[in-house]
Order: sequence, then C-alpha cells, then structure tokens
Amino acid sequence: MSNTTITRPATADLYDAYVLQNYARAPITLARGNGTHVWDDAGRDYLDFSSGIAVSALGHCHPHWVAAVQRQAAELIHVSNLYRNPNQGELARRLVGYAGPGRIFFCNSGAEANEALIKLSRLHGIAKAGGVEGKSYKVICAKNAFHGRTFGAMSATPQEKIQKGFAPLVPGFVFAEFNNLKSFAGLVDEQTAAILIEPIQGESGINPATPEFLRGLRELCTKHNLLLMLDEIQTGIGRTGKFFCCEHAGVRPDALSMAKGLGGGMPIGAMWAREGVAELFHAGQHGTTFGGTPIACAAGLAVLDVFEKENLIEKVSRQSAPWMAALKKLAAEYPQKIADVRGIGYLVGVQMANDIAPVIAKLREAGLLVASSGNNTIRVLPPLVASEQELAKSVEILRGVVAT
Ligand code: PLP
Repeated sequence: MSNTTITRPATADLYDAYVLQNYARAPITLARGNGTHVWDDAGRDYLDFSSGIAVSALGHCHPHWVAAVQRQAAELIHVSNLYRNPNQGELARRLVGYAGPGRIFFCNSGAEANEALIKLSRLHGIAKAGGVEGKSYKVICAKNAFHGRTFGAMSATPQEKIQKGFAPLVPGFVFAEFNNLKSFAGLVDEQTAAILIEPIQGESGINPATPEFLRGLRELCTKHNLLLMLDEIQTGIGRTGKFFCCEHAGVRPDALSMAKGLGGGMPIGAMWAREGVAELFHAGQHGTTFGGTPIACAAGLAVLDVFEKENLIEKVSRQSAPWMAALKKLAAEYPQKIADVRGIGYLVGVQMANDIAPVIAKLREAGLLVASSGNNTIRVLPPLVASEQELAKSVEILRGVVAT
C-alpha cells in the first residue's frame, strides 16, 4: 500500500491560476468559523463583522443550524420542483407569517429574487393594461441603487462600474432621486408598472430611506395602480432589528425580495408577493431547479427557529442603540477621520473622510473583518448573535485604527 501524501498547492496559488479574476479579495484564506469568529488557514482569529456580506445571521456553525442541516443532508437533499417537499411548504408558511398574506417563490440568490420581482412587474403591467403586452412595463428605481448582477437586476442598478461592458441592457428601467418623492412622482406615466427600491441602500454607502419617503411611495403606488416592490435582500431577516426593514416605516409593499440572512449561509433567495398579486404567476411562467430545495429550506427554518428561541430580532433592536451611540461618539472624537455614521440595527456604515481601503486592511490586521459600501464607507455587519461585549470590542478596534 502506498503511503504517499497528496500535497495541495497553496490556496492563493490555486486562486491565481484557476479562479476567475472578477473579485478584489483580501489576502487571507478563511478556514473555520464558530459564532462571531472565523480563523484563517494560519490559525489567526478574527471577529467577523462582515458576516459574509450580511449572510451569517446566526454567526458561524450555530449548533441548531448545524444539526438541522446535518439531519436533512442524511434524509433528503434535493428533489426539484417537480415534486413537493415538506420544508418548502413550512418555510413559505413562516415567511408569510412575517410578510403578510401572500405567497412565496423560492430561488437561490438575491439577484434571482429580484428577477422574480421584475417579472412580476411585467405581469402586473399586462394586467393593468387590460391584457395588452408591452404597454405598461416600466420600473422606477433609485439612483445609486444596487439590485444584483443578472441582466434584469443589473439593468435596475444605475452604476457605471456595474453596467459598463454589458450593453445592451434590459429596457424599461428609469431612475429617480432616492428619498425624493417628487422625483419618483415625476417619472410616473401610463407605461409605469412598478417602483423598486431598497429600504436602505446597502451597497452605495448605507443610505436609509426616510419613513416619510417610503410612506409616500406607498401612496403613490396605490394611487396609480403600481406595484411597490422592496429589495430587502440586505435589510431583511432581522438585520435592522425588525424582520423586514419596511416595518420601521409601517409600510407594506406589494412584493419584496429577500436572500442573504435567510439561509444563515446556505444559498437561498425568495420573493414574497401579496395576495391578489401572487396569482399573476401561472404554472410554467417562472422557475428554477434548485429553488426551495429541502436542504436550503431546512437551513432557513433553522434560522427562524433560532430567531424565535433566542429572541434575536428584539436583541438586535435593543443592543444596536448603544453601539450606534458609541460609534457616533467615536466619530465626534475624530471628525477629521470619520465623516458620518449611519444605519439601522446591525447594518451600519462608517463614512470615512479619506480612503477606506487602508482602514479596512488595518482593521483586519487588528482582528476585525468588515466590508465596504460605496467609495468611502466601511460597512459593519455583525452577525445577529453578536453580544454587547463584541459590539463594544468592534468600537475599540476601530478606535485603535483611527487613532493611529
Ligand atoms: N440587492 C441588494 C440590496 C443586495 O445587497 C444584493 C447583494 O449584495 C443583491 C441584491 C444581490 O444579491 P446576490 O449577490 O445574492 O445576487
């Protein structure tokens, strides 16, 4: 018997040689995670306040989530949507409980959930135009929005760095000023079918929509028979201290998209559409092989179980206020370094006065992982299980970096 050991090339070399070069990755390889911490392949410990870009709601390897996914992996992983599976039905029931009477379509990512919204808007436009296709199809989106990288979602994302190189885009998207109701109202015409907006613009600097603006959009949509569609991919699933961010403004949309935190790390996305709108989709009009697969839905159910058992959303709401106050105090102490602190719950942007790349690298060296948002904002996304002590630690690490 041979006892030859197969040695793997270094991960960095494998990425350099074989992985598509479409990301600017940090120069570390993450090998393991537990709770709010991850460890790199050299054994270095980091407090992970990037949360896989708002995905790791329960942190890493939460025991309830692990047990549920392991159990499901040993029972039934995938069946496609040719058949029912118990987990999809139950997860849909529980999400409808949070979103309101309606129905859920399951997919695998945020961009796909937005594609479903965009297709829904086309169907609504046809219904609105008395069954005539191509008369009412326009979607009004916001300037600086981010809705994803697939063609429909990218076409709804008016950012040169994202759209450049991919023309022609999907037609029918027009763009108004975020937080400016008049600007949205001014673009409504008889070709308009829907409005699509993020309750907090998460990729262009953490810009929350005001409650008045969201309420105004709700009225505008109701008045003109437009669908109000919210992209809650980043803001949903408890991240802002409510299950959906729109609850802060008391606004119920006609449809919304979610993903990220929903699977606690398992890829899953979903669209909710309210009663009376969900029925626009008929068999065969939309679908995806993996959507709502038993293992992804088991992960989603485990996330919701932990939310309920550990009272996580209420905890995010309660703990985020002193954390935000501490960050604002730090900003007041270093006005030449920190320009602003914005956000809701555990979705916070620290806008820096200067280049953020060196700050993010220094934070990493000091043991804190964060993301970026737009050109000048550090995006801090603690797992929803983060404790008060860990939140306070993140402020101290940031203080250490801005003080240098
Ligand atoms: N919409 C918003 C608001 C997002 O933040 C993202 C991802 O960052 C997306 C859509 C796209 O989601 P995904 O990357 O899962 O396709």
